[in-house]
Amino acid sequence: MQEFQWLFIDFDSYFASVEQHLNPDLRGKPVGVVPMMAETTSCIAASYEAKAYGIKTGTRVAEARRMCPGIQFVEAVHQAYVQYHHLFHEAIEELTPITQTLSIDEVSCKLPASYAEQWHVENLIESIRLNIAQKVSPWITCSMGVGPNKFLAKLASKYQKPNGAYIIRTAARLTFIHDHKLSDLNGVGRNMEARLRKYGIYSVEQLTQCTEDTLQMVWGSVHGRRMWHALQGHDLEDIKTHSSSLGHSNVLAPHLRIPAHAHKVLHRLLQKAVLRLRAKEVVTSRFQLSLRYENGLRWAQEARFDETNQSHILRHVLNELWLLRPHPQEPLKKVGVNLVALRESDNYTLSLFTQPDQKREAVDAAVDEIVGKFGKEAAYFGSACGVQKAVQMRIAFNHIPDVMLEE
Ligand SMILES: [Mg+2]
Repeated sequence: MQEFQWLFIDFDSYFASVEQHLNPDLRGKPVGVVPMMAETTSCIAASYEAKAYGIKTGTRVAEARRMCPGIQFVEAVHQAYVQYHHLFHEAIEELTPITQTLSIDEVSCKLPASYAEQWHVENLIESIRLNIAQKVSPWITCSMGVGPNKFLAKLASKYQKPNGAYIIRTAARLTFIHDHKLSDLNGVGRNMEARLRKYGIYSVEQLTQCTEDTLQMVWGSVHGRRMWHALQGHDLEDIKTHSSSLGHSNVLAPHLRIPAHAHKVLHRLLQKAVLRLRAKEVVTSRFQLSLRYENGLRWAQEARFDETNQSHILRHVLNELWLLRPHPQEPLKKVGVNLVALRESDNYTLSLFTQPDQKREAVDAAVDEIVGKFGKEAAYFGSACGVQKAVQMRIAFNHIPDVMLEE
């Protein structure tokens, strides 16, 4: 096993750092980056100086002002963040090739086998740091992690933030891993943490003591085995999730074919798809609506948007697409929704233009829990009222979603 196989680079408070680079008045000061200037909006990023006051992504502007009266807010400039992304890419690639870009501020590099000594890796890290400072900006810093696989390298990159680095040595791997909470691990979201607790696993140490078969059982999918291998330091190929999709369609019973009822069925289908989306802990950025009219005409339309798994956003997208359909008075025979471009939700940087809406997220989580505990009729969108029975909801929340969901 190559000890220094992967280098993971994660920029520190990226959007806020770019703002501090562009505007010297903001340097060394608490800064909140917001999607628009309004008291009701939330920070999409906070500088390290603001983080010291407890302000983070998702903190409301009014709340942030209360926590840190001197905080300055700047409106996000997406083009600048993309421009600096390309600049730091170049600065890194002058020293080592980038294998994968994971988000606007995270990249991973598979290191050549020639990196066999720790000093050699340390030199690379220092060279990258220097090159970014010289060619991009000394104000845009990053944290780096090196490990035997991408999973551990990413964890290591978060260990010494900001502007730090950590190299995992084989002999110290377990000590390093045990110094984390379950929720620090990529692939352990809120749902998975709750599931681990059901199996009596409360700590990373307990997790690392499980066998491969136990993790397969707990996860209910190959992801459990992958977690076991990741914790062992084995370097596995990624599972491609981005090309997958998740959708449902329904041939309408005759009494549901008038457009108003068909619309409700679509909302029910969407609810089913969104529950699965969240159970799989993935996000989507494309929505396809497909219709077949009673007269045989077919129509489909796609909408693209920032990655999300939130019901209210997807309901809104459905309603917008629905309004675009031709022949709005014609009865429909078959309707379908499809969520496309799925990605694991743990790896996404919050979109600039979608404000994190914690209240809505809490509502979604509550609905998922109610449906999981009390069944499909216990909670549903108001927009699907009256057609609940038209769509079967075969989702096994008390078991392990992944396997069941594939069926
Ligand atoms: Mg970052």
